[in-house]
Amino acid sequence: MKNQDPVSLTQSLLRFDTVNPPGRERDCAHHAGAMLQEWGYKVEYHEYADRRTSVIARAGGSDAKAPLCLTGHLDVVSLGTRKWSHDPFAGETAGDRLYGRGSSDMKAGVAAILIAARTMAKKLSGTPGVVLVLTAAEEGGCIGSKKLAETQLLGRAGAIVVGEPTSNYPFVGHKGSLKFNASFRGVSAHGSMPHLGENAVYKAARAVAKLEAFDFKAKKHPIMGEPTLNVGTFEGGSGVNLVPDLAKIGVDIRTVPGVDHKKVLQRIKQLLGKAEMDVFSDLPPVSTAPDDEWMQRVFEICKPVLGKKPRARTATYMTDAANLLKVYAGVPTVVLGPGEAQMAHQTDEYCNMERIRESVAIYEALIDDWIR
Ligand SMILES: [Zn+2]
Repeated sequence: MKNQDPVSLTQSLLRFDTVNPPGRERDCAHHAGAMLQEWGYKVEYHEYADRRTSVIARAGGSDAKAPLCLTGHLDVVSLGTRKWSHDPFAGETAGDRLYGRGSSDMKAGVAAILIAARTMAKKLSGTPGVVLVLTAAEEGGCIGSKKLAETQLLGRAGAIVVGEPTSNYPFVGHKGSLKFNASFRGVSAHGSMPHLGENAVYKAARAVAKLEAFDFKAKKHPIMGEPTLNVGTFEGGSGVNLVPDLAKIGVDIRTVPGVDHKKVLQRIKQLLGKAEMDVFSDLPPVSTAPDDEWMQRVFEICKPVLGKKPRARTATYMTDAANLLKVYAGVPTVVLGPGEAQMAHQTDEYCNMERIRESVAIYEALIDDWIR
């Protein structure tokens, strides 16, 4: 284990089946935790449900300055319905590509965090140090980090690096997410006598038309642009000759800084009338000013790898940072990792091995910069 390079460590993580659902991150979490312990880290585990294990590891620490947090998730999405041409769990390589479910999203990122943590382990004592947070259940709702943020285990941090796939381009944040289902009730009747019933599909359809025209009344964010709303699902009725007494829609809203989730929900509630709303995801946007002092240092550190100074851009997807920031309130946060964003959740997912090595160098430089 001592001499493992970033690629072979990624391969060893890929061999753990952490497909979520059901998740089963425990073995992978303990594998990472055991290594960290061997390198001198203080390791704690958190299980919010059976085998849904997150790892929190610390080294160094000082009163003067909080540690740097590096975070990644251990679970991966399902394999999808199309056939893979590479074994998704074997860590097969071809040219510079390393194949596997989670190679880009984001076991390469976790491996790079671990290798950087190993290199820097001996230098952390007496410094602000680092806190590593490897989460379960990120995919499909960031549940693992949500549960972690409800415990005391996270401690404090002064900045966050999220190792999600960005091809090593530093993103200064991402949109927030607000997701809900709404159910519309009606009264059933024979399809030949609709006047005797109350059609739930009509109610849902009217609501969908209103949602399509929904105006957030939000200012355009200079980097993230505008909030969006999408009606993703629509179900209703049980037979063509019946007046439907139930219809349901599923709605996905992505917000930008300045949009108040509570107010948006209030306005939508009014618009939907008597529908029952079930909000199952409510996470604020993550955003750091590009001219933040630390973010500028991150840009400088990435510059030689990218060949040019990064511009302020944001990721399209959600991350655990939205939950971690409930505890590490207000700290600058960068999304920065070796995977390829467009490979996430794809059949034959791969990452580029050279990027993993570059990412290790970036993380080491970020830690080194933080503890000076
Ligand atoms: Zn991810």
